[in-house]
Amino acid sequence: MILFLSSITHRMNLCSNLPLADPSLPNLGSSYVLSSLKTIHLDGHFNFDNIYHAANDFGNRHHYLPLAILHPKSVSDISSTIKHIYEMGPATELTIAARGHGHSLQGQAQAHRGVVINMESLQGPKTIVHTGKMPYADVSGGELWINILHESLKHGLAPKSWTDYLHLTVGGTLSNAGISGQAFRHGPQINNVYQLEVVTGKGDIITCSETQNADLFYGVLGGLGQFGIITRARISLEPAPKMVKWIRVLYSEFSIFSKDQEHLTSFKNSFDYIEGFVIINRTGLLNTWRSSFNPREPLQASQFNSDGRTLYCLEMAKYFNPDETHIVNQVIESLLSELSYIPSTLLLSEVPYVDFLDRVHVSEIKLRAKGLWEVPHPWLNLLIPKSRIHDFAKEVFGNILRDTGNGPILIYPVNKSKWNNRTSLVTPQEDIFYLVAFLSSAVPSSTGTDGLEHILTQNERILDFCEGARLGMKQYLPHYSTQDKWQAHFGPKWEVFVKRKSKYDPLAILAPGQRIFQKATPFSWSRILA
Ligand code: FAD
Repeated sequence: MILFLSSITHRMNLCSNLPLADPSLPNLGSSYVLSSLKTIHLDGHFNFDNIYHAANDFGNRHHYLPLAILHPKSVSDISSTIKHIYEMGPATELTIAARGHGHSLQGQAQAHRGVVINMESLQGPKTIVHTGKMPYADVSGGELWINILHESLKHGLAPKSWTDYLHLTVGGTLSNAGISGQAFRHGPQINNVYQLEVVTGKGDIITCSETQNADLFYGVLGGLGQFGIITRARISLEPAPKMVKWIRVLYSEFSIFSKDQEHLTSFKNSFDYIEGFVIINRTGLLNTWRSSFNPREPLQASQFNSDGRTLYCLEMAKYFNPDETHIVNQVIESLLSELSYIPSTLLLSEVPYVDFLDRVHVSEIKLRAKGLWEVPHPWLNLLIPKSRIHDFAKEVFGNILRDTGNGPILIYPVNKSKWNNRTSLVTPQEDIFYLVAFLSSAVPSSTGTDGLEHILTQNERILDFCEGARLGMKQYLPHYSTQDKWQAHFGPKWEVFVKRKSKYDPLAILAPGQRIFQKATPFSWSRILA
């Protein structure tokens, strides 16, 4: 089996920086390719001129210009385009990247001299909400989560598991995982999907679920876009609350903070959302939060001094409807009484459910107005096993980082028992692990501590520490530049990942921006199996 797979990986030209065709094959020129694309019969259309935005993303650091952008109006547009490119064979360097909302960080939704599919223009049936005992929504793979929220709320329902920011597409987050403060209870978004419609790397349109084409279903979930393009998804829903009690408290000891976080994420009738973040050396912290939160003890809160300190903020939310206010207040008091935070730092707020879920969009609007949204974002997302989180915190928060001025650092535990291990997502070995997200923004052309170089060096130090200390860390939204590193990332899942690639996308046409596989010769199964 190992030989067999090493042969697959060799033939598929694993992982290079740019997607290039096999040099031993005659390469068909771009004018031939362009005129060939123009022959595809489409409901939508190709754009060959207005292509520059597809060479950018939220990370704003990697820029690969495509040859064309497909604006599909139907699933068959996507299928016909993939089939056409598949049938052209390995003689072109043409690859295809689905682009959701382009909020990747390292060019993952880009295709150098390839075709980018603008998934948001996919028009099929709009979101259809099914009520009943197990409610769900059938949605387009190019739909934004914020639109799904609004549509399902018309029926008093909402998806169970979220990301912190909702202006991302279904296909984009399901290709990764979709992790937020609800994941400790419901698992990530990829665990809250009943069915998918997928167009494979051969152009086949396949419906898959836990019981139908399960191999493709689990492969695609968390599969980094490698096995097919998600054109529709069936998302599980639950009754939506109207309001949210949103609470923050501070700790000065990491061990007490993490103990309380782990406690809250360990039982059923806890909060509905649990996250946390680290604050290093911030001035007037509680005052800055007073525009959104009210301190329970205003006088003591005004005397709290955050200067020069490393603090840990536990953030919790409890959903409720207005007629349950009294009960929910009692539940919250009881939950808070089990925690050991600094008493003067208890901050409370009450907001509509939609405002809570769409909270990051408020910051986006403010940052856009100041020209601070479209800056480089050298983000780093890590999953750290619980048994090593103290070693990690000691070195990273106590030594490597001097402040958190470049952006928030999120940290919260999740429990793997709620996560389905059959998806392509890679997590640490232990049942409980922490998501740690360094969400830095760099000031363009700065050479100081807020500049790109400094932040990237800091990220490298964090990664080096994780590796040197053998923490068993896994990257989330992973990014690697060599085959060995991808293989190490996937660990025992690598064999299956490569096998699925050779089955569903044998020419390695899809999602070249992940830089896992390079377009190459078709893989001859009959020869290997003979
Ligand atoms: P894109 O960047 O367009 O695509 C991402 C990858 O998926 C690419 O490889 C692309 O080819 C592929 N792809 C896109 N659409 C499809 C499809 N239909 N079928 C198959 N493959 C497809 N993540 C979390 O888990 N939790 C968070 O709380 C969170 N918060 C975020 C906040 C912000 C402000 C940002 C910018 C990102 C955040 N993310 C979070 C990360 C985010 O989930 C991923 O970057 C996601 O891929 C972005 O979705 P997108 O629609 O922009 O995808």
